[in-house]
Amino acid sequence: MSAIYEALEKATLTSDGAMGTMLQARGLTDGGAPELWNVEKPEEIEAVLEAYAAAGSNFITTNTFGGTRGRLAMHGLEERLFELNKAGAQIARRVADRHPGCFVMGDIGPSGDLMEPMGTMSVESGQALFAEQIRGLVAGGIDAILIETMSDLGEVEAAIKAAQEVAPNLPIIATMSFDTNLRTMMGVKPAMAVQQLATLGVRIIGANCGRGTDEMAVIAQDMVNARPEGVFIITQSNAGLPKLQGDEFIYDGTPEELGKYAAQMKAMGVNIVGSCCGSSPAHTAAIHASIG
Ligand SMILES: [Zn+2]
Repeated sequence: MSAIYEALEKATLTSDGAMGTMLQARGLTDGGAPELWNVEKPEEIEAVLEAYAAAGSNFITTNTFGGTRGRLAMHGLEERLFELNKAGAQIARRVADRHPGCFVMGDIGPSGDLMEPMGTMSVESGQALFAEQIRGLVAGGIDAILIETMSDLGEVEAAIKAAQEVAPNLPIIATMSFDTNLRTMMGVKPAMAVQQLATLGVRIIGANCGRGTDEMAVIAQDMVNARPEGVFIITQSNAGLPKLQGDEFIYDGTPEELGKYAAQMKAMGVNIVGSCCGSSPAHTAAIHASIG
C-alpha cells in the first residue's frame, strides 16, 4: 500500500498553496509559460517548493498545471511536453527528498478543451492527452497524481483512466472547483463528485480553488457526508475572494483566516488541508500549525 494512504490513516495532513501567485511575485509575466521555468529558472521553482515544504507541507505540487499539449501549444512549447513535465517533477522530487514525510503530487490541470458535444474531447482522446503528460511526470519521480481545478466529470474520468494506464501503482488525488453556486461550472455538485470519482477507483477526492473559505466549508461538509468507506477528503481553498485592485486581482485572505479554516476542516473529518490561489508559505504555515 502506498505510504500516502498509511500516513492518511494516522493524521490530518497539510498540502501546499499557490504556485502561480508565487511565480508572478518572482517576475513571471501574464503571457509567460510557467512550465518553461522548470528548465529556464529551476532555482525559482525549487525555492517556492522548498518554502512550502519548510512551512510544513506534507504534499508539494509540481509546476505542471498547464503541461498538457493544447496549453503548451499556446506558447509554442508542445514539442517540449515530456521534457517540461519531467523537469517539473524532478525539481519537486529534490525538495521532497530533503523533507522526510513530504510527498510529490504531479499536477494536472484542465486541458482547455471541452468534452463532446460542446468541445472536441472524448474520454478516449482525453485519456491519450493526459497519458502523455503523466509519462513525463512519472519519469521525473512523483509519488501521486493530482488532477485539479476540474469542472467536468468526463474530463476527470479521462485523466483518471490515463493515470491508471500509465502509473497503476500511484495514488490519484482528484479535486474539482465548485465555484458556481456551490457547483462546478458544468453543474457537478460536491456529493455527486465524491460518489462518481470513488466509483472510478479514486481514494482521495476533494475540492480546490472556489470562492473562499466559507463556501469551502459547505462543500467540505457535503463531501464528508457523501464519502464511501475508504475515501479520504482533501480541500484546497483560495485565500479569500479575488478583488480587483487596479488591473489585477488580489486575494486578501490572511494566514489567520486559513488557519481557522484548517481547524474547521480537521474537525469536520477532512484528511488533507491545503490552499490555492492567493496563498503563500505563510498561509501553509498557519494551516500546518492549526492541524499539526
Ligand atoms: Zn485556485
